[in-house]
Amino acid sequence: MTIKHILGNWKMHGQKKQAIELTQAIVAFKIPENVKTAVFPPFTSLHIVASELIASKIALGAQDCSNEIGGAFTGDISTLMLAEAGCKYVIVGHSERRAQHNESSELVKHKAEAAISAGLIPVICVGENIGERESGTYLQAITKQTKDSLPSLAHSSKFIIAYEPVWAIGSGKTPSLAEITEVHKTIASLLSYDTSVAKHDAVKTAIVYGGSVKPENAREILASEGVDGVLVGGASLKAEEFCKIIESAA
Ligand code: PEP
Repeated sequence: MTIKHILGNWKMHGQKKQAIELTQAIVAFKIPENVKTAVFPPFTSLHIVASELIASKIALGAQDCSNEIGGAFTGDISTLMLAEAGCKYVIVGHSERRAQHNESSELVKHKAEAAISAGLIPVICVGENIGERESGTYLQAITKQTKDSLPSLAHSSKFIIAYEPVWAIGSGKTPSLAEITEVHKTIASLLSYDTSVAKHDAVKTAIVYGGSVKPENAREILASEGVDGVLVGGASLKAEEFCKIIESAA
């Protein structure tokens, strides 16, 4: 059975009413056996969504975390807090945080390590910008970003990598299927070189694609070589669209 991850990043959407309605609609949908799905609401809705997810097959994730364990870090949320709130996953290094909050790959790496220490699975985002794509330097850029963002001891840890070309996020544009596979293969080659993933017990690094995934393109993206799932932004805010994407992974 080929496992596919369908992850819904709500970004800064999902106050109480919307969060409850959206979660209830997704919970009512029958998740196919081979699909692992999770929703990533904003911090303030984590508890309410967690209570709606009890007894469902859908996991909870957060959109960011601190790299620190605790202390004088006003406004930050630790990975232990997220674990206590019921999270299984946490996104780190989303391009919006890299761009809007100047997050470096070094910080992303430390966030991923903090997540693993707390028993969470980090979803580490990497991806080229439009300049890197157009100048043909995207594979070098992604290689550097991935290597710099990987947690140390990556070989014995569980994490997910999300390939999200910055220019594809929220734009309606996507790379071709061949281009997606090219990048996923490049990332996979770094993992087997850096982490000997295949040699380590149950550790399997999933590489998911994100950027303008919709019900119309999900099936072919999910069927592409090297694609272990999708990270969905906009379309994860509409239960019908998100459930269609889940269905297309069956
Ligand atoms: C995202 O922000 O992770 C994302 C993939 O967004 P969208 O699906 O809206 O492009």
